[in-house]
Amino acid sequence: MQANPQHNQLLVKHNLKITTPRLSVLAVLTTREMATSQPDLEQLLGSKIDRVTLYRTLSTFEEKGILHKVMGANGTLNYALCSSACTQHQHHDQHVHFNCTLCLNVYCLDKLQIPQLQIPDGFTTKKIDLMVSGVCDKCNNAYSK
Ligand SMILES: [Zn+2]
Ligand SMILES: [Zn+2]
Ligand SMILES: [Zn+2]
Repeated sequence: MQANPQHNQLLVKHNLKITTPRLSVLAVLTTREMATSQPDLEQLLGSKIDRVTLYRTLSTFEEKGILHKVMGANGTLNYALCSSACTQHQHHDQHVHFNCTLCLNVYCLDKLQIPQLQIPDGFTTKKIDLMVSGVCDKCNNAYSK
C-alpha cells in the first residue's frame, strides 16, 4: 500500500495514533465514490484487517468525526468519509444522501446541503437526514445505451 501523508495528517488531527489498519481503511474509503458497507469493506481490505479491528476502527472513526454512517434503503449501514469540518464533538455532514434503487449504492451529495427546516417550538433537533432515492448517473447511463 502506498503511504499517503494526508491520511497520517488526518489521524493526527483527530488525535488518533497512526496504525496500519487505520491507514488501510482510509486508503480504501478515499478511493470510493459511494458510501461503503462493512461487508464490502471487508472484501476490499481482504486479509489486511480482521473483522473485529475493522469494526473498532469504524466506530473510532465515527466517534472522532472522520466518517459518518448512512443507512441504505435496504437497511444496510454504509460508511462515508466526512468533510474536514467534522470533529470529535460534532458532525457537520448536513448533505443530502442518494440511494440508487438499482445498484443500491448510497452516495454523499456533498454539495447539496439540507435546507434549513423550521422545527416547531419545543422540539430540539439532534440530527437531520435527507435521503433521496432514485436511479444514479451510472445506472442511468448503463440503461440508456
Ligand atoms: Zn461527519
Ligand atoms: Zn445506481
Ligand atoms: Zn454523506
